[in-house]
Amino acid sequence: MDIVIGLEVHVQLATRSKLFCGCSADYFGAPPNSLTCPVCLGYPGTLPLLNRRAVELALRLALALGAQVQTSSLFDRKSYFYPDLPKGYQITQYRSPLAVGGTVSFPGEAGEEHLRIRELHLEEDAGKLVHAGDRTLVDLNRAGVGLLEIVTEPELRSPEAARAFVRSLRTVLRHLRVSSGDMEKGALRCDANVSLARAGEPLGSKTEIKNMNSARAVERALAAEAARQRELLSRGERVERATYGWDDALGKVFLQRGKEDAESYRYFPEPDLPPLDIGPELLARVRGELPETPQERLERWARELAVTGTDAQTLIAEPERADYFEEVARVCGRPRQAASWVLSEVLRLWRAKEPPLAPGELGLLVRAVAQGEFSRTTAKELLRQAAAGASLQELLNSEQMRPLKGSEPLRELAQETLLAHPQAAADYRAGRTQALGFLVGQAMKAVRGRADAPQLHRVLKELLEEDHWGG
Ligand code: ADP
Ligand code: ZN
Ligand code: MG
Repeated sequence: MDIVIGLEVHVQLATRSKLFCGCSADYFGAPPNSLTCPVCLGYPGTLPLLNRRAVELALRLALALGAQVQTSSLFDRKSYFYPDLPKGYQITQYRSPLAVGGTVSFPGEAGEEHLRIRELHLEEDAGKLVHAGDRTLVDLNRAGVGLLEIVTEPELRSPEAARAFVRSLRTVLRHLRVSSGDMEKGALRCDANVSLARAGEPLGSKTEIKNMNSARAVERALAAEAARQRELLSRGERVERATYGWDDALGKVFLQRGKEDAESYRYFPEPDLPPLDIGPELLARVRGELPETPQERLERWARELAVTGTDAQTLIAEPERADYFEEVARVCGRPRQAASWVLSEVLRLWRAKEPPLAPGELGLLVRAVAQGEFSRTTAKELLRQAAAGASLQELLNSEQMRPLKGSEPLRELAQETLLAHPQAAADYRAGRTQALGFLVGQAMKAVRGRADAPQLHRVLKELLEEDHWGG
């Protein structure tokens, strides 16, 4: 039996205000019910007014994914009763969505894969229920916040692919500044539909899983649910259509409710909103403002910087990281070394939003190492000190950080090393030439890598082979 997966992804649009009123959409951490007004509280007699910015952001994503934007789309009311839904219905686009088609590319097992999008539509979010002891409280700050729902075709073939898809979509959202894409904060929510079918046979009966708050959780939940279905089917039982929640700590799905069908929502046209007409000027403007997509950026990196594969994937994952890498590469002129430095040294030190060192400074450091001015070890030490707050310029100018150049200082260093390690010197002169490597290592250690190893090697060898040395 093959696994068949289709996703319904809710993306919180990065607008300042809600979808149909002027209340702030920045509800994370705000005092409960502080961001509300008669419109989003669902008072009778109020009217929704569509947020233009929300439409532009939604169009931006639709265009970037190659979807077909409909010249006219419609709003509908989806009715259901729940305490976090004060109006008793949600405004969504059911009969006619904003855009149809398009694809999301993501890294698969055998190279790049593409998942087809069925449609993208605008809708408003609901509030939140807060369970406190034996009471349940209602917070309506989130009620009316603008969402874009992306519905995929049921064409993902594995839980791993679903995870890769979610990650790639999140990267696209962040690069386009359409959404923060933060799954932990609920700005990206994924309902995963899964069924099992024999290859070539019609799709099997599916279940839906909700409440995963990371891409990893999406993968784990789908794997657990596919295993549960496999088990049922192998016993000759049926998979019932239903909605499950995911308990990440237990690693288990739990039944939430049997599946409603469309009739139970009593969809009908929203009488208070006109059709959403998208004119050619608006579309052209949004297209003109479209930032480079991560996909395009990866292609450019491969072409111009020879940076590809998992390195490129890790660098592209956050737009700030991608910008940082590009700046380091530009300044040092060595993209692959820039990539290696950012991936190995900088990411470890990159706390919260702040990089440990300005990209221009790291670029200079990487260039200095590439030109043999000092070793990678010294550079790492400099990077650590700069990350702890020291000024890189001052560190570089300070006497003890300056590379040992010229024959005099090197000769001095070599002599000190031979005095400190007489046994190794004697060994070398007795024909055990591998002792030279040890001496070079000791000398480099003494100056914390500030000398040029091949030069030092030469000077040490000269000294050891001078007749009068040591006697
Ligand atoms: P519903 O009957 O639940 O409304 P839809 O056809 O509208 O189903 O699809 C909703 C989501 O479920 C889509 O993301 C779609 O890709 C996915 N889906 C539909 N059928 C299946 C299936 N048999 N197995 C897995 N996913 C499916
Ligand atoms: Zn409001
Ligand atoms: Mg449906």
